[in-house]
Amino acid sequence: MLFTNATILTMNPTRDIISNGALRINENRIVALGKTDELRAQYPAEEFVDVGGKLILPGLIDTHVHVAQALIRGCADDMALIQWLCERVWVLQGNFTHDDGYVSTRLCVAEMLKSGTTTFLESMLAQRYGFDGVARAVQESGIRACLAGIVMDLGTYATKDNAMHPGMIENRETSLLGVLDMHRKWNGAANDRIHVWFGPRTPGGVTPELYREMSDYAHQRDMGITMHLAEVEADKTFLREHYNLSPVDFAESVGLLGPKSILVHMVWLEDAEIAKLAATHTSVSHNPSSNSKLASGVCKVPQMLASGVNVALGCDGGPSNNDYDLIREMKLAAILHKAVALDPLIVPAETVLEMATINGARALGLEHEIGSLEVGKKADLIVVDLGRLHTTPSVNPVSTLVYAATGGEVDTVVVDGTIVVRDGQLLTMDEHEIMAQARQHAQSLYTRAGIEIKLRWPVL
Ligand SMILES: [Zn+2]
Repeated sequence: MLFTNATILTMNPTRDIISNGALRINENRIVALGKTDELRAQYPAEEFVDVGGKLILPGLIDTHVHVAQALIRGCADDMALIQWLCERVWVLQGNFTHDDGYVSTRLCVAEMLKSGTTTFLESMLAQRYGFDGVARAVQESGIRACLAGIVMDLGTYATKDNAMHPGMIENRETSLLGVLDMHRKWNGAANDRIHVWFGPRTPGGVTPELYREMSDYAHQRDMGITMHLAEVEADKTFLREHYNLSPVDFAESVGLLGPKSILVHMVWLEDAEIAKLAATHTSVSHNPSSNSKLASGVCKVPQMLASGVNVALGCDGGPSNNDYDLIREMKLAAILHKAVALDPLIVPAETVLEMATINGARALGLEHEIGSLEVGKKADLIVVDLGRLHTTPSVNPVSTLVYAATGGEVDTVVVDGTIVVRDGQLLTMDEHEIMAQARQHAQSLYTRAGIEIKLRWPVL
């Protein structure tokens, strides 16, 4: 299969952009890249897709997703974090069934694929969402995923007063040992599209002993770890009061730093902590929409990048963002830090595209396989149509993509050599069936949880 007549953003080490470019795929690998006339001449008998001048770039990598939260999109808008969690999100999630987990994952994955995300890291799968159903939805859809199962043994968040919903509480046996079972069953499945990670709760939900046991297993089995940390100031205060440690020092003390760790949000950090993240090659997932909407604060991304920390990007979830469109997330990541630093040169569009592609691949330990378009890498790529009103004229495709485009301009998506979206249509799932099921499951979930969303304006 040959894709021709494209502007190709390779994201290779020299960040080459190929005009009039072509890319050849054989099975699930990229086997040639170059100019269209050269590759057509070299492979005259090859079936080809003329993309008509559209952009081809590596599939986007979302390093922080909650698949179970697609079904509860918009359930807690304009609320403070603790109230958001304790009164809405945990109550709804605590009433999930395995079927809800499957339906929500399909909704989330369909949205991600159609908006150009080809790989995601799910951060915290509870047993009650049904790991098998989530993994099956990933397998069927064709997307690539690292699925982190929850690890916890305490039912609180930050302070003892913030109890979790009883439906969300697990212990060492169900969580830690459950994830190890899922690792045996699913890691490497679907032609190695599925990897299984650990997704421990934040400090306050896990004892230091369980963190250490988990990180020992992670090192023995080369499993990744992802955790929310220093999202709000209360997280920092909690660690100072209980352990007399900063968030990063606490993470280090229980074995959570290293090249296969992704710490999420990381808003409330000091400079010494940023230096420690760089020294230990620990990655950060930056989620600007979630941090802005929940008023958590602004992650010090410019300082992290200047210190050499690998910063990737994440959309978070349906109640915190409320979409899973990483192209829209790129825009906020590119403009937010300029406003904070009063510096228009900070975090340029090119840097943000690195965060959404090659940095994401590095964070997942998959930079030798995905994250750039290079011969020998897996064929995960997207075709984006910048020939729309709001993307015309396009003098720099990178800045048009980051500042003007949305996921709606994604035309074709290829994961592991298979076309899963073509002409903007999902080929692996029925979009209308997904939406109908999601509406039905959401309605019965709200009823079961006893939650009614009251509008602020009168409904006549
Ligand atoms: Zn999250």
